[in-house]
Amino acid sequence: MAKSIQAIRGMNDFLPKDTVFWQLIEATLKQVLTSYGYNEIRFPIVEHTHLFQRALGETTEVVEKEVYTFNDRNGDSLTLRPEGTAGCVRAGIEHGLLYHQEQRLWYIGPMFRHERPQKGRYRQFNQLGAEVFGLHGPDIDAEIILMTARWWRALGVDKHVSLELNSIGSLQTREKYRNDLISYLKQFENQLNEDCNRRIYSNPLRLLDDKDPGLQELIDGAPSLFEYLDEEARQHFSRLCKILNDAKVHYTVNNRLVRGLDYYNRTVFEWVTSCLGAQRTICAGGRYDGLVAQLGGHDTPAVGVAVGLERLVLLVQAVNPNCQIQREVEVYLIYSGEGTQIPAMRLAEKIRDACPQIKLLTHYGGGNFRKQFVRAAKKGAKFALVLGKNEINNSQVRIKNLRNGNQKSIAQDNINMILESILP
Ligand code: ATP
Ligand code: MG
Repeated sequence: MAKSIQAIRGMNDFLPKDTVFWQLIEATLKQVLTSYGYNEIRFPIVEHTHLFQRALGETTEVVEKEVYTFNDRNGDSLTLRPEGTAGCVRAGIEHGLLYHQEQRLWYIGPMFRHERPQKGRYRQFNQLGAEVFGLHGPDIDAEIILMTARWWRALGVDKHVSLELNSIGSLQTREKYRNDLISYLKQFENQLNEDCNRRIYSNPLRLLDDKDPGLQELIDGAPSLFEYLDEEARQHFSRLCKILNDAKVHYTVNNRLVRGLDYYNRTVFEWVTSCLGAQRTICAGGRYDGLVAQLGGHDTPAVGVAVGLERLVLLVQAVNPNCQIQREVEVYLIYSGEGTQIPAMRLAEKIRDACPQIKLLTHYGGGNFRKQFVRAAKKGAKFALVLGKNEINNSQVRIKNLRNGNQKSIAQDNINMILESILP
């Protein structure tokens, strides 16, 4: 036997026992997005490398260490997208969607980051993201957060997540803060390892987010970005908080929350959970008013959010495993004996025509009735439809309730009555 080939480390297959959760979760998220007036956008998985360098920042962890970058056959440097916002903005500019317009967009799909795989952290993972362009007020920041809160309620996980909120001010504010922070951190150069010392200069704000217990004292003593905020950013933040208070969405202000990508300004937030071990953030977002112009478009305010779907699926499976997922088939159609196959398949198609949402499995592979009933039970079917010699001779079908054993025969043509006997 030839040696089998395995999937790439950190890149997962999704089997039917999990895809039922994925489908339900995606459908729920999309339904809520639609109810808030969002429209889907699709853009490629691969983009020019410099799109991500320019959008996310060359010194961010993602661009420095995590992207999958390669030269294609023409020698162009391409990168598998590590996130969706850059591609979404690129597409929006390219197709004239953003200039002087209000847009509410969402996307879904795989992202790629070369990280150390572990539970909730993969090299190919999926995000669903939403982006709003053309609105600058805190009201739209609040609406996005309310929408995410609605997602958690709809999925029955709202008791297991909490919201952390911060304002990181304008890009200018951050520049000034960054300089002061570097001066502060420089004092500890001798105590820090090489990687931290490098980050002092490349991305000092991200050091504040470091979970290393050895760094906590140093982090606690650092100047607070919140103190540097200009009046407009403060007002924006306090109006956002007011709306959230009024909507009874609870949050913690976490002044250490800075987010890993350079494009954010003002509002940043994360939904975190304690149910998934080290991978605590299931959803993150914020405002990025400078990005559209930075990528060559007109000045356009923007705010967005992205959910890590693998983490959300793990969370739903952990806390709400029965979440109305209809995993069982309703009807199992069995037949045995000469001349029964064609009428069986015909009947199955007629039932599906009349009732597209029904989950009906037809037995294939032969075998006697006993074996087929065993299979029906294994599939969790509530009813068996039975076609044997007798039924064929009388143009009938036998319907057996597999939960209580009751059965009756109905004319094969009488699809309405068959459905009435099956549907709740
Ligand atoms: P983390 O701090 O966990 O690395 P991040 O700040 O890098 O997250 P974002 O770029 O904000 O993550 O992406 C938004 C969401 O996408 C995260 O909150 C998380 O749920 C999910 N996510 C990010 N990276 C991964 C990954 N490698 N595997 C699975 N999900 C991920
Ligand atoms: Mg990360």
